[in-house]
Amino acid sequence: IAALVAACGQKSAPKNDERVLNPDNCDSLEGVSREDLAIREKLAYASESPIKDNQCHNCNLYLPPANGRKCGGCMLFKGPVLPGGYCTYWAPKI
Ligand code: SF4
Repeated sequence: IAALVAACGQKSAPKNDERVLNPDNCDSLEGVSREDLAIREKLAYASESPIKDNQCHNCNLYLPPANGRKCGGCMLFKGPVLPGGYCTYWAPKI
């Protein structure tokens, strides 16, 4: 949890391509570490949000796709994140 809180406090957002790893294949978890997969699972990331108004695209931790790329990312873990996704760490944009 401390790592998650630290990630939230980052002053500059990480570059999205570094977080997504496969920025043009949003279904691929290739190259994502076991640690990041575990965080993804612990936060119950789902590619389709069960809560209409709470989705990755309107979360403060969402990283929109870089120019010319298809997949977004998240500040909390590496790997592709879809705009309509969700996890238990969702936080409104500030
Ligand atoms: Fe990341 Fe979760 Fe926010 Fe989506 S809802 S951007 S997975 S923190």
